[in-house]
Amino acid sequence: MPRHLFIPPGVTPEEAYRDEVIPLLPGLATLSQPSIVALMLEELDARPGMKILEIGTASGYNAALLAEVAGDPSLVHSVEIEPRLAEQARRNLAAAGYGKVKVKVGDGCLGWPEAAPFARTMVTAEAAELSPHLLTQLDAKGILLTPFSIPGLPGLLLRLELKGSRAVGRFIGIPVSFVPLRGEYAGDGRRREAGSHLVQQAMAATEERAWEEQIDLTLECRLALCLVTAALVEQGKAPPRQVADEAWRRYVAGGKPDLNAIRVSVCPLAECPSRQLAFRRRDYALCLNLPVERNSGEGGESPQREVMS
Ligand code: SAH
Repeated sequence: MPRHLFIPPGVTPEEAYRDEVIPLLPGLATLSQPSIVALMLEELDARPGMKILEIGTASGYNAALLAEVAGDPSLVHSVEIEPRLAEQARRNLAAAGYGKVKVKVGDGCLGWPEAAPFARTMVTAEAAELSPHLLTQLDAKGILLTPFSIPGLPGLLLRLELKGSRAVGRFIGIPVSFVPLRGEYAGDGRRREAGSHLVQQAMAATEERAWEEQIDLTLECRLALCLVTAALVEQGKAPPRQVADEAWRRYVAGGKPDLNAIRVSVCPLAECPSRQLAFRRRDYALCLNLPVERNSGEGGESPQREVMS
């Protein structure tokens, strides 16, 4: 994809081909880093003929890549909240030969109901919220890929897949950083920071224990522990030493999984049992299911109720 066709004035064509983020509007919009875009496209697993929704058009670069993957630009629907950017993206896409990509100005978290259902949805801005519209506008085996921020953790990508009427998936262990999502599902700005120092203190205690017990934690295991720790902190557990002890106990009882082995399942907030390890949000809870808890059937498993109704 000729990335130099998507850069703002003042950036040289040579700079366009570095594996770097290019700012478009300070703090609000960027042209994403090519290697992260590539990683996201792999995880999205889109194939020719699929209808795709993108949230956050910005330059249009990723929309053009999605058009290549889908094999037909008119299958790509991209929503941008900033009118000036949407206008520029339309021009960029037309100049690159992808003028048939559909670009709409609006809050992408509301999806694109008239064009739904989508086989794949990809969000390119970060929030601590999960919009129900994006899940309900997926088709029966649809995949949603979105950056999801958890206080105290690096930005992680969340990949959810519909299995009938349930949404299940995992976090991907590559720390990412995106501009904040705006609009109705931007989430509570304070939530980003809330408790992050407690998570970090608890993790410091865990690292100390791992060092004392000569346990070598891989990055993927450390991220898994961070996830368990952050969920406990969100559930109001304190002080950090006790959180660290409980996180460690649950992590070991759960089979010492790496991040990949923790299954995430989505359930309506009202149906999430109070003892379930979960990130509770406006409409949904993201339940964390550790492998051993899952297999033993002794709790930890989230309710099997439908979420898409
Ligand atoms: N996909 C882009 C990078 C996106 S940067 C690329 O290929 O380079 C994130 C973009 O999301 C910004 O342009 C920002 O304006 C937009 N955005 C933020 N919140 C949004 C929302 N709720 N709906 C649609 N777009 C949003």
